[in-house]
Amino acid sequence: MSSLQSQDPALYDAIVGEEKRQHATLELIASENFVSDAVREAAGSVLTNKYAEGLPGKRYYGGCEFVDVAENLARDRVKQLFGADHANVQPHCGASANLAAYLAVSNPGDTLMGMSLAHGGHLTHGHNVSISGRLWKSVQYGVRPEDGRIDYDEVERLAKEHRPRILVAGASAHPRILDFARFGAIADEVGAVLVVDMAHIAGLVAAGLHPSPVPHAAVVTSTTHKTLRGPRGGIVLTRQDWAEKLDKSMFPGLQGGPLMHVIAAKAACFGEALTEGFNAYQRRVVENARVLGESLLAHGFDLVSGGTDNHLLLVDLRRREMTGKVAEEALHHARITVNKNAVPGDPQKPWVTSGIRVGTPALTTRGMGPDEMRLIGGWMAKVLEKPGDAGVAREVEREVLALTQGYPLFSWEPVVRPSPD
Ligand SMILES: *Cc1c(COP(=O)(O)O)cnc(C)c1O
Repeated sequence: MSSLQSQDPALYDAIVGEEKRQHATLELIASENFVSDAVREAAGSVLTNKYAEGLPGKRYYGGCEFVDVAENLARDRVKQLFGADHANVQPHCGASANLAAYLAVSNPGDTLMGMSLAHGGHLTHGHNVSISGRLWKSVQYGVRPEDGRIDYDEVERLAKEHRPRILVAGASAHPRILDFARFGAIADEVGAVLVVDMAHIAGLVAAGLHPSPVPHAAVVTSTTHKTLRGPRGGIVLTRQDWAEKLDKSMFPGLQGGPLMHVIAAKAACFGEALTEGFNAYQRRVVENARVLGESLLAHGFDLVSGGTDNHLLLVDLRRREMTGKVAEEALHHARITVNKNAVPGDPQKPWVTSGIRVGTPALTTRGMGPDEMRLIGGWMAKVLEKPGDAGVAREVEREVLALTQGYPLFSWEPVVRPSPD
């Protein structure tokens, strides 16, 4: 019996329940993944007990000799992985990585130009409910409604008109390659600093499957828990000339003590990402997304931009007269997990939407391949054909359970049965 189980059964049950849920559902949320045992071991280690404000070799606390080793491993590995001059591995999350980047290269009140959330960007790229849109003057660009692609000439026109201090490139729901060279040229032309947020695609960039932003951007931010398959957290990479400013904006500017257990887990993740096995994994992520997209198209679904170059698909449900909310719920009843997502030009509110976002990183980690993607595309079509039909949901749920039992996620194998009517 674990100490949690004896000491705090209510909490223990919640964690075991979540383990079983992860095992017995098809996880298609594009921003999620499953970490290795090594990453989990580091994240659950005694490093959580340590205060280490400052940087390796320059701490405000004693006793940092071992956490310094862990943080240096993380910094050296991530610099090698992306070919960056400088790295800060302390951001608690992607949002604080972005805020640290903005504070390093600008002042509140300056103009920040980023991709709008409604077109696939992120809240932290200048949305008015986020600190990025409240403290900075925000200008937003988007994609062409006709083809779901970024209109770079329009980005250039807006940049010339508004002369932003920061140009942000990066997205959370964009299925196509981003042209970082073009963004860099636009930033240079108007005297802006290019900040690239590669949170979603960092794993693809590490594996050479998406062009790297590092040669084009002064500052590159990322999360570590999406395609990169590490612990929940953030990183910032900079050119040497921004290194000192960035480190200071991170601490003491924004955060207190770094999460040393999470930094150790980041080091483990970057070590894994430097292996050839990781490249093979990312190639399969992209192949699986392409195959799942083809399957959904064959079943009559519309995809924003017509397909995908990366790990995710954006399904446009407008022609089916179905909302993203209804689709997400219907799939949930069949143990298929996706998130509702706005499509460009969406007439629905953000908590309803007209689309769903579907990604393959998590199921690819479980070992699934193109054959499973075709099966899953068919099941999604079957459920969304009759979204309120409990019988259809149960039929698909049975198939999903049989498939998930064949791809054990954790060292133990839970027995999960279809939910009773
Ligand atoms: C996920 C994401 C973030 C935010 O990461 P959190 O760790 O949730 O704060 C920022 N930018 C982009 C593009 C993202 O996809």
